[in-house]
Amino acid sequence: MTYGVCSGVEVVEVACNKCGAPLEVGEDTKFVTCGFCKARLRIRHKGGAHFTEVRKRVRAVEKKTAAVEKKAAAVEKKAASLDFEVKELRLKQELDELEDRWREEREELYIRQKNGGTVRPEAWHAQLAFAIAGCALVAGLMMLDAGPGIAPALLLMAAFAAVGGVLSKSRFTRFNAALGRYQAERDDVEYRLAKLRRKQRRR
Ligand SMILES: [Zn+2]
Repeated sequence: MTYGVCSGVEVVEVACNKCGAPLEVGEDTKFVTCGFCKARLRIRHKGGAHFTEVRKRVRAVEKKTAAVEKKAAAVEKKAASLDFEVKELRLKQELDELEDRWREEREELYIRQKNGGTVRPEAWHAQLAFAIAGCALVAGLMMLDAGPGIAPALLLMAAFAAVGGVLSKSRFTRFNAALGRYQAERDDVEYRLAKLRRKQRRR
């Protein structure tokens, strides 16, 4: 029910939520104390309807809402933390796989020695082979007039050394390319891991 009053403020009638007594309040009034039972009331104005709530209950509901919101925030934080852990594990796994793949690739490109060991291809392997080939060639040409068999042996040695040099150079090139690919991929995963951890620390 709404009454017009001379002050210009609309007055509405509400019932006390505790004792049921009728109360007259301004249309915008938010709080009132019941003149009959002294209950502290909050006045709700909803879509033209006006009613009262005992404030103690209002506070209880607010408290409960805050508790639920706090719980929701904690759950959200936990979810974010789990999300970080999953992403971190995936990146670590990616690094492991990268290492495994590189170990296999490297094993194939390393030079196998007679004693079963392996040696990393180096640029000087080919350079040494070409130097030996050159020396053997020069010596072979100089020995062309010497005794039988010496010059052909030196020339054959020069040919073998030259072939060895070409193979060494090719292996070194392939090894370097594979190493570059591995390092670039590793840098990329490590960058993403560092970025993820920075983001987690800021949270
Ligand atoms: Zn009352």
